Amino acid sequence: MLPSSTLARITALSDSQEDFTNAVALYESAMRTRDALEFERAIGLFEQANELFEALDTGIPLLIAFTYDMALAYDLAGNTKRAIVLFKKTAAMYHHFCTDYPEDPAVEGFAGLLWGVNDYLSLWETANVNDEHYLDFITKRRWGAAKMPLKITVDNSDDTGFDTTLSEIILDGFHAWTDGENCLQWVKGTSTDEADIFVTRVSDGLGSAGGHTAFEDAVDATGEPQLQSATIRISMHSPDSTQYDDAQLRALRALAIHEAGHAFGLDGHSPHATDLMYWKSPLLNLSKRDLNTFRLLYS
Ligand SMILES: [Zn+2]
Repeated sequence: MLPSSTLARITALSDSQEDFTNAVALYESAMRTRDALEFERAIGLFEQANELFEALDTGIPLLIAFTYDMALAYDLAGNTKRAIVLFKKTAAMYHHFCTDYPEDPAVEGFAGLLWGVNDYLSLWETANVNDEHYLDFITKRRWGAAKMPLKITVDNSDDTGFDTTLSEIILDGFHAWTDGENCLQWVKGTSTDEADIFVTRVSDGLGSAGGHTAFEDAVDATGEPQLQSATIRISMHSPDSTQYDDAQLRALRALAIHEAGHAFGLDGHSPHATDLMYWKSPLLNLSKRDLNTFRLLYS
C-alpha cells in the first residue's frame, strides 16, 4: 500500500492534469465562440480558462498565446481598456521569454504576432473612441482615375488558385467596398498579365497572418503614392471549397473584405476593433468608419 503522502501527491497530479485538459478545452471553445462573433460569451469562457491556467504551472508560450487571444476577445467586445492591459501583458511575457529562453523556437514563432501587438499598442497612443475615420493611421495609397475601371483577377489555377465558390467569396470582398459607392470602379479580369489587382493562394509562408497585400506604386505630383498594381496572397491549403467547413469559409469572407481594403489603398490598420480594418478582424460587415475612411481616401 502506498504511503498516504504519496497517494495525496498522485491524486493532486492527476487533478491538475484534468484541470489542464479542461483549461485547454475551454480555451479552444472560447476561440471558436469569438470567431463566431459571440464576443461576450467568448470572454466568459476565456475567464474560466484563465482561472484554471493561473492555478496551474502553465508553460509560458501557451500563456503568451492565450493572453493575446483573450485580449482580442475583449477588444472585439468593445472593452479596449482591458484589451490593452492584456496586450501589454502579452508583450511583457514575450519580452521575458526572449531573455530567458533565446534559443526556444517559440521566440521566432511569436515574433510576427508580437510585432503586430506592439504596432497596435502604438496606434492606440493617439487613437480616440470618437474618431470618425482612421485616415491618419494608414499610408494613403490611391488608384488614379486613368486606371479605372481596375481589373481584378482571382487566380483559378490548380496550384495557386481558388475554385469558383472561393473565387466568388473573394470577389464579394471587393464588392463590399464599392457597391453603392462611386469613388472607385472595377471589373472582373480574366488574365493574370493585365490584372491591376491579382489574388493568389499560398500554402504557407505568411506566419500567423491569413493574408497579405503587396503594392507597387509610383509617387504622383503631390508626393502621394499612386498605385500601379497590388497582389493579395491568401494562405489556404487547397483550391477546393469542399475542403473547408463553415467557420473557415466565414474566416475567408472576413479576410477577403479586409485584404480588398488594403488593395484599394488603405495601407495600414484601424485602431478600433469595431472596424473591419482592425488588424485581426473577424467581422463580416464594414463599419461606418471603414466607409468614411475609404470615401475620404478618394475624395
Ligand atoms: Zn491587414
